[in-house]
Amino acid sequence: MVDMDTLVSLAKRRGFIFQSSEIYGGLGSCWDYGPLGVELKRNIRNLWWRDVVHLRRDVVGLEASILMHPTVWRASGHVERFTDPMVDCRACKRRFRADKLDEDPWTHYCPARKENKFEVPAREPCKHCGALRTLCPECGKGELTEPRQFNLMLKTFLGPVEDEAAVTYLRPETAQGMFVNFDNVLQATRRKLPFGIAQTGRSFRNEITPGNFIFRTREFEQMELEFFVNPHETVDGQPADEYWHEVWIQQRFGWYQKYGIRTENLRLREHGKEELAHYAKRCVDVEYRFAIGWSELEGIANRTDYDLRRHAEVSGKSLTYFDDERRTHVVPYVIEPAAGVDRSLLAFLTDAHHTEEVRGEKRVVLRFHPEIAPIKIAVLPLLKKREDIVARAWTIRDDLARRWVTVYDDTAAIGRLYRRQDEIGTPYCVTVDVQTVGDAAKGEVGDGKVTIRERDSMEQIRVPIGELGSVFGTLLGGGAWSAVAAGYPAQAPPGS
Ligand code: ATP
Repeated sequence: MVDMDTLVSLAKRRGFIFQSSEIYGGLGSCWDYGPLGVELKRNIRNLWWRDVVHLRRDVVGLEASILMHPTVWRASGHVERFTDPMVDCRACKRRFRADKLDEDPWTHYCPARKENKFEVPAREPCKHCGALRTLCPECGKGELTEPRQFNLMLKTFLGPVEDEAAVTYLRPETAQGMFVNFDNVLQATRRKLPFGIAQTGRSFRNEITPGNFIFRTREFEQMELEFFVNPHETVDGQPADEYWHEVWIQQRFGWYQKYGIRTENLRLREHGKEELAHYAKRCVDVEYRFAIGWSELEGIANRTDYDLRRHAEVSGKSLTYFDDERRTHVVPYVIEPAAGVDRSLLAFLTDAHHTEEVRGEKRVVLRFHPEIAPIKIAVLPLLKKREDIVARAWTIRDDLARRWVTVYDDTAAIGRLYRRQDEIGTPYCVTVDVQTVGDAAKGEVGDGKVTIRERDSMEQIRVPIGELGSVFGTLLGGGAWSAVAAGYPAQAPPGS
């Protein structure tokens, strides 16, 4: 498994992710997505949207504003309860989440040893004196204060006067946008239960201990679905909410597998009764084996009718659905798969990262699923001094770019260019060479064919330029390389 430092450095070097405001020393836990990161992020968001909204008959989309009426957050319970327990170190003044104190290695000054400063692995006692952590895990010296509740919502003021009346919040989740628009969407679309409203967008949390790269940040992007079901119905002998909860757990687990995350790095974790949010009937997390250990990638909760009921109570507006069959108004239950774009990106990046040896040389390759890969095709001229080769390569790139994200690169020799594309996960390279264009000076006519190289196997085939559209249509539409490659002559690798 690749470690976090390697990922952070690759992400910066190749233009996936940069520290925010780096020239001013950076802003803690804020990150900017570079040319490759923005494509990767967009792919994740678009694939989610395609699979959760477009391909389904029972889900519609929404884009609510980030700033909402402050009463939304009182009704939802966020003002009162969206808190984490925080403790301070009396010596070094650092702050920690009380419930996460023991998740990282801790600093210990061991009384049993002379050379006595140690880093002890998370949750383990000191192997010399047997002590468990009681003091500050960072400095190893300070006592910790009693936990106190810290609200995670970021406050701001709307309008020119900064007083209490102008206080509002940057949303800490996208979900409330769907609840407050439930009736609008129902009236506008005449949907029957069950149906869902989906949204992707930025959320903000003033996390006490952000960190681990983009795993926990204060500004992040969510992909959330609120799937409304009729609590009076049963499906396959089960209450509809329980049935649909199970369906969504399986769907969401399968979604990560579908886009290439290895099953052994994914697992489901059922929340214990004591950790369930006060409104939740059941919650299951999809967890990924991150470099920091198994952690939440997505939560799938049965939020019951809590949110719609609360907003109806506080707003005085009816947020019900008329059940024709039973001739009664019902408050739907809601199943919520809530995922993070950034955290998914970190999982896709971690899982794709491989280091291998090819002919005695180290090769770093991101084995992204083709639909996740930021760049699908790189067009490379074998000789950048030959104008005809360069011109043909550019024409091919411009042509392919109309359908797929395609780049042109001639800044190094072919072997180096291949390695660079491997390192950013580009599934296919197209190479234009002398054979393609011929040599006018010598009266030689080109064969109009190019080489396609596949990232993982490094195999190469020779394909007529006119067939590139259909070949990539197959390959990037889910077709297997082996099946396509079988139809074309293999090519001896120029620089493999
Ligand atoms: P955690 O326990 O890690 O704080 P959570 O249970 O509070 O997460 P949810 O409220 O269920 O998270 O949010 C849904 C998803 O949004 C999470 O699974 C995660 O992918 C993403 N997410 C939540 N908080 C953050 C954050 N601070 N930074 C990045 N992504 C986040």
